[in-house]
Amino acid sequence: MSSTMNWRSESVRGWGDSVGGTSEVLRPTDQGQIVDALADSHGPRGVALRGSGCSYGDASINPDGRVIDFTGMNRILDFDAENGIARVEPGVTIRELWCHSIGQGFWPAVVPGTQQVSVGGAASMNIHGKNNYAVGTFGDHIESLRLATPSGELLECSRKENVDIFHAVVSGFGMLGCITELELKLKKVYSGRMRVWGIPTRDLDDNLSMIEDLKDESDYLVGWIDLHAKGKALGRGEMHRAVQFKQGEDPDGESMLSPDRQDVPTTLFGVVPKGWIWPGMWLAHHLGFVPMVNWAKFQAGFGEGWKSPYPQTHGAFHFLLDYVPNWNRAFSPLIQFQPFIPHAEASRVLRRLIEMCHDANLVPYLGVLKRHRVDKFLMTHAVDGFSMAMDFYVGGASRRKAVWELTHRMAEVVLDAGGRFYYAKDATLLESSFERIHGSGAVEQFRALKDRLDPDGVLQTDLSRRLLGSE
Ligand SMILES: Cc1cc2nc3c(=O)[nH]c(=O)nc-3n(C[C@H](O)[C@H](O)[C@H](O)COP(=O)(O)OP(=O)(O)OC[C@H]3O[C@@H](n4cnc5c(N)ncnc54)[C@H](O)[C@@H]3O)c2cc1C
Repeated sequence: MSSTMNWRSESVRGWGDSVGGTSEVLRPTDQGQIVDALADSHGPRGVALRGSGCSYGDASINPDGRVIDFTGMNRILDFDAENGIARVEPGVTIRELWCHSIGQGFWPAVVPGTQQVSVGGAASMNIHGKNNYAVGTFGDHIESLRLATPSGELLECSRKENVDIFHAVVSGFGMLGCITELELKLKKVYSGRMRVWGIPTRDLDDNLSMIEDLKDESDYLVGWIDLHAKGKALGRGEMHRAVQFKQGEDPDGESMLSPDRQDVPTTLFGVVPKGWIWPGMWLAHHLGFVPMVNWAKFQAGFGEGWKSPYPQTHGAFHFLLDYVPNWNRAFSPLIQFQPFIPHAEASRVLRRLIEMCHDANLVPYLGVLKRHRVDKFLMTHAVDGFSMAMDFYVGGASRRKAVWELTHRMAEVVLDAGGRFYYAKDATLLESSFERIHGSGAVEQFRALKDRLDPDGVLQTDLSRRLLGSE
């Protein structure tokens, strides 16, 4: 079989560019090739599944092993424009999905901060959006999925069929089988825009209580945090709140449903190509200007507050950074640390984590706060509480060591408080954390499903070897 399959040696890295290596990569174009590839990958390092490679750390890499990359399987197979149900291949990106659906008045119910992720990767990590507290996770909007397992089965999984497998594959970080097709329910939108508010927040508790106060009357809420601010200003930032227009509320709403009106201009002030922005960001970062840039951003929030609410397209609200090409190069290599903290502990724990960064002199250049709710997926990262995504510049060997040590200490604080972590954003958790996050019952159930669907341990990544401890 392998002689006819086109495995190519390539460099495969995490999105943050802090981990990676060389792998044999295959880009299948149909389900049959996936089945053959799984059957052909029983070597010691097995095979990793990879969508768009947007996980920050080691969730979709397998140095010295194989990788099945789904970017060649990106067909939208069917779209029911009455009910907003899409049948898609796993490599379809969130961008491809909304470009197809928005003209017919539908938008993906859950989207992350970049539109480049694939629906297979989104399902596998059970991603969340800025509306997690209101509509749940990506998995809550999957009607059904088809799974090709290394044991050679093709399984239809949903809330009615293979129910336990459905709830474990969604959130199962590509360990139980390969999703070859999905049926997704999208949400109805009547306008291509939303009503958006920018609201400055004076400190961490202001941020947290603002989210609590607004969550029942907002479709989306997300807080930017200036992690460099200290003392009374610790945790200050700006909240963004969005509310969808109801039918007939936005006079230009329908014309804005055109996909080409969603994109943000590719130039700044109509002149400067946005491709030139990242070198400026790189310089500002390496000259130590991040605290000043954050201060300026915080002050600019008051101006935005004055002009709020204002209309903004779905594309601009959700994916603004996608329109600054290569922005991550300014901070790379980088990792993200995103703890999820139960509501009652959030203020104390998040404050402590920020202080720990200051004490270690390793302050993340970006902090993002979101509100979450629990879900039914086996390897869930969600809690009834808050998450704070913290982006760390990794740099060279000694800083890397210090960042890893700091995140280990921070993880202890989070786990002691009953918090969880999200593997799409992880690169540093220790094996011992896995059971503390999920509890022994869930871990046992997950390992039993792995033994049943992948008895030879074919599906592997650096993340799985780090957390499950299996070779
Ligand atoms: C700038 C940026 C912003 C982000 N914002 C958010 C956010 O707001 N919310 C959020 O939840 N996440 C966010 N993410 C993380 C991102 O949504 C997840 O990492 C997502 O899983 C990436 O999808 P992918 O297609 O790139 O998958 P990959 O990173 O390639 O893979 C992710 C996982 O899915 C598995 N997998 C991939 N395809 C399949 C398949 N067909 N079958 C089975 N398993 C498969 C892989 O093995 C891996 O474990 C962000 C990432 C970036 C870079």
